[in-house]
Amino acid sequence: MPDPIVVAGDPVLRAPARPVPASMLGTPGLRALVSRMLESLRAAPGVGIAAPQIGEPWRVIVVEDTEKRMARLTPAEREERGRVETGTRVVVNPVLTKIGDATAVFFEGCLSVPGYAALVERALEVEVAGADADGNPVAWRASGWPARILQHEVDHLDGVLYVDRMKTRSVVAREAEARFGGRQIAQIREELRC
Ligand code: ZN
Repeated sequence: MPDPIVVAGDPVLRAPARPVPASMLGTPGLRALVSRMLESLRAAPGVGIAAPQIGEPWRVIVVEDTEKRMARLTPAEREERGRVETGTRVVVNPVLTKIGDATAVFFEGCLSVPGYAALVERALEVEVAGADADGNPVAWRASGWPARILQHEVDHLDGVLYVDRMKTRSVVAREAEARFGGRQIAQIREELRC
C-alpha cells in the first residue's frame, strides 16, 4: 500500500525539511524512502513529490512526468506549458537557482491541497544541483513545466505551498477545470479577472 499523501493542515508541510546527512546517502533507509515517495506519487497520480508529503521531513524530491500523465493535453497546451517527459529523477538536498528573469504563469495544483488549482508565476528556467540516493552528484537544468515542478517541490522542503504564491483570484475547483480545456491562459485570466 502506498503511503497516504499528507494534506494541508499538517505541520510537517510547514516546517523546513532537514538536510540528508552524508551518512544516510546510499543506505537502504534512504532508498526505501525514495521508493515509498515514488509509489505514492504514481498512485496519486502526480508529477512530483517531496518527502514531507509522505510525512518524512527530509530534503528529498522525486519528479516523474510521463506521456501517460500528459495524455489529456492537446499539442498546443503541451507547447504553451513547455511540458515534456522527464524520466524519473531523484534529487537529495536540492539547491535551486533561477536562470534569467523570464517567468511563466500557469495553473498549478498540489497533491497536498486536493480539489483545487490556481495560477502561479514561476521562473521559466532553473537549475537544480544535489545528489541522487547513492550520493552521486546530480545537476539538472530545466525549463517550462519541469522547471515549474522543481520550484514547487523545492518550495515544499522550505515549508512553502503553492497557495502562498498563487494569484488568489484564479482559484479553480477541480469540478470547474473542464471549462478551461483547450483554452489559452490569457483568455482564462481575462474571464476570471485575475
Ligand atoms: Zn505540492
